[in-house]
Parts: sequence; structure tokens; C-alpha cells
Amino acid sequence: MDQISLQQHWAKCLEIIKDNISPQQFEATFAFVEPKSFEDRILVLSMPSEFIRDFIEKHFMNLMRSTFTRVFGKIDDLYYDITVAKETNASVHEKSSDINIEAVSSTNNRDARKSPDDLTAPQVQDLDSQLRPSYNFGNFIEGDSNRLARSVGEAIAQKPAKTFNPFFVFGPSGVGKTHLVNAIGLRVKELHPQMRVLYISAHLFTVQYTDAVRQNKVNDFIRFYQTIDTLIIDDIQELSGKIQTQNTFFHIFNHLQINGKQIILTCDRPPIAIQGLEERLLTRFKWGLQAEITKPTQTLRKNILKALVNKDGLQIPESILKFISEHVDESVRDLEGIINSLMAHSICYNCEINMNLVQKILPRFVEVNEHPITIDNVKQSVCEYFKIKPSTIDSRCRKQDVAYARQVAMFLSCEFTDCNNTQIGLQIGNRNHATVVHAINTVKDMMEMDAKARQDIDAIRELIRTK
Ligand code: ADP
Ligand code: MG
Repeated sequence: MDQISLQQHWAKCLEIIKDNISPQQFEATFAFVEPKSFEDRILVLSMPSEFIRDFIEKHFMNLMRSTFTRVFGKIDDLYYDITVAKETNASVHEKSSDINIEAVSSTNNRDARKSPDDLTAPQVQDLDSQLRPSYNFGNFIEGDSNRLARSVGEAIAQKPAKTFNPFFVFGPSGVGKTHLVNAIGLRVKELHPQMRVLYISAHLFTVQYTDAVRQNKVNDFIRFYQTIDTLIIDDIQELSGKIQTQNTFFHIFNHLQINGKQIILTCDRPPIAIQGLEERLLTRFKWGLQAEITKPTQTLRKNILKALVNKDGLQIPESILKFISEHVDESVRDLEGIINSLMAHSICYNCEINMNLVQKILPRFVEVNEHPITIDNVKQSVCEYFKIKPSTIDSRCRKQDVAYARQVAMFLSCEFTDCNNTQIGLQIGNRNHATVVHAINTVKDMMEMDAKARQDIDAIRELIRTK
């Protein structure tokens, strides 16, 4: 295939892919991928790192397969062309299976880049990393809201400064940012014991800097930070408006980056939204990868609760965990708080953990919705969104738009209410259990393949929640 057609085909592939993954995932992966050739039904893609290859293979293999077949027709094989080191232009041609290219990929640039400071760098054992051993990957539960950040974090820990640098993790309070960056730091230490890893909050960094200024030791302060191999700064929004600290941080940042050291930052908002941050720092934050951790989904909340209960050896019925995970949806910290309170109560008063106790404790953490969502509420929101009458959804009408609305109502009733499929079927058009199961699977499939369907469902979810 000639290059012009190849590029045209590729543009179509990207359109489909963009439609099916988040913009963030796209920017981190396919944005770097280019088509190299398509001959004899073999597609060769080029990309700048093994990390991207691993990531797309792990997360998007099915999507790639279906997209490429749709656009290119039958494909026999997929090859990757990975540019290993820009300096030497070396590249490795490899098949899309598990070929170990470790040996070719390790270009040891670190030594070549060693600065004079490194020669006198303090030893790793002199440094207290300030990492919390309990915030590790082992107990960081994965879910939709943190999957990208976690995957990238694990890749960075494998090869610090070789994938995304800086790595900027942002999201609201209590969603696991501190836990994740700690876990990355611990993993770096485990895999690369010679590396100097440091975790520090931006607040403490500022305090240390102010002290250094007072004691006339700014140079020592800067020199110390320049010896770090993986520097993790938490809650970087704390630097806003602190011009002198930012200025010093800028120099440290540049030095580390030029010397191939990893920088990991967390923030409660994306870089662009930080007020009072110098433009040049903002630009640098944007160089690497920004990964958002959003509020935990209900499945993640439930999995985290289960893990907490297991860890503490508690006996809490499944229905109670479900109830908590439905009501506490803002932060993982609240989930932990509730479990701790339940445990304290049950030990103190020697009582079992039941719904009464949960209902007493819950309002201390969240506003409890006294009126649980019903199938009727779901139906109303679905009808409002699709602009159809509730009586139509309950009718035998088989028109495509009505049938679709009915399926969506069944799917969302399953998500928002405690009713089983038989009850849902009875209340939505008097259908049987099998119809409901079919509807739920159909909507799930559509959400996977069709961005418009996802938009519809998200918009209706919002309607249901805000009613
Ligand atoms: P943030 O820094 O975003 O405010 P933290 O990292 O301090 O949030 O997380 C708050 C609490 O929730 C911590 O105790 C942390 O261990 C726990 N936590 C957050 N996310 C997860 C997760 N995915 N799995 C297990 N625990 C989590
Ligand atoms: Mg934090």
C-alpha cells in the first residue's frame, strides 16, 4: 500500500480508536503511534517506546484487532517497530507477541549524562525516603477510575525516567493519589535499590525552603534535591503563589530532568487549573503525562470495602457493603472512616455490625439520601432524556427508539436499584427475566463499542442522580 493510502487508512483507524478510549488514554498511547507499512496483509506500526507497545497490547488489543480489520480488511499479522534510542537511531523490528527485546533496548545513557554532582552524590542508605510502607501496589485496588494512572505508575517504576517524565497525577481529595505515588516510590526502591527515592509534600518542601533561606543554606537545599533519582512531590497545588519556592523548584526540576531523573507530582486539579503557577513550570508539567484519578466507581468502592473488611478480619454481610458503597461515593478515605467506625463500635459495645449500626454511622460521613432510587425514577429520567412518554416504554411497541429506551431503562434500573431482574421486567413493560438479561447485555455491548451510547447513559445517570 502506498504511503498516502496508508495515512488515509490510519486516519480512519484513529477516528474509531478515539471514539472508544478516553482522550487521556489516547494522548498517552496512540497519539505516538504511526503506521509504517501495510504489505501482504502485515501491518507494521512504529512507536517510540516499549511501554506504549505493552500498554496498548494489554489494554486495547481487541479494539485494535476490530478496528484494523474494519479499515484495512483482513490482517494476518501485526508488527511493531520500536525506536529504541533516538541518539543512535537504533530500532528493533518485532512481532506483536512476547519477544524479549530487553537486551537491545538498554542503552545506558545514565553514565554518559552523569553530572559532576553525581560523582559526589550521597549514598542511597543515607536517605530516608519518607515513603509509607503501607501505601503499596499490593493493596491499591484497581478500578476504572484509577486504571490508567496505576498502569503508567507501574511502568514508570520499572524504568524510571524512561517512559513519562514528569508524571502528573491529579484528582479530588481522597481518591488515592498519595497512595499511588507512594506505591511507585516503593516499587522503584524495590526494583532499583541503588536509586535515591524521596517522597515529600509540597507543603514540607516549602517549609524546608523557607528554613534554608533563613539559615542562608539555599545552595545546600538545592544540591540535596539534585541528588535524588526519583523525586515525588505531593499536592503541588500548595506551591501556588509561592514565587520564590517555585523558582527554586524550577531549577531543581530542570536539573533532574536533564540528568534523566524521574519526577512524580500530584495535584488536586490539572496543571492548567492551578492558579498562581509560573508559566514555565506549567509548561514543564505538561511535558510528561497527566493522569487523572476520578472518584471511585461503585464497583471499585465495593472492592475496596471488601479488601478493608478482609484486612481487619471483620464479618460484614454483603448487603451492608453494597449499601455503604452505594451511599459513600466521593472518597476512599470516607470508606475507610466508616469501616473504622463500625469496627470501633462493634468492639466497644460488643455488638454485631448490622444495618442499624450502619445507618447510625453513615450520616457522620455523608449526606444520606432518604429516598432510594426506584425503577419509576429511572423510567422517568430515561423517558425525559429520549423524549418519550412513560406509557410508551411500558407498551408492546417495538419501534427501534422505544425498544432502545426500554433496554436502557432496564440496564439503569439494575444499576441504581436493588430490584432483581424479574422485578425490573415486571415494572418495565411487563417483560420476562430473560428479556431483562438480554437488554442489560445489549446495552453493555453498545457502551463498549459506541461513544454516543456512552454519552446517552452518562447523561441519564446524571439526570437520575440529580432528581
Ligand atoms: P488523596 O491523596 O487522593 O487525597 P489518599 O491516597 O490519601 O488520597 O487515599 C485516601 C485513603 O484511601 C488512603 O488511606 C488510601 O490508602 C486509600 N485508598 C485510596 N485509593 C485506594 C485504592 N484504590 N485501593 C486501596 N486503598 C485506597
Ligand atoms: Mg494526598
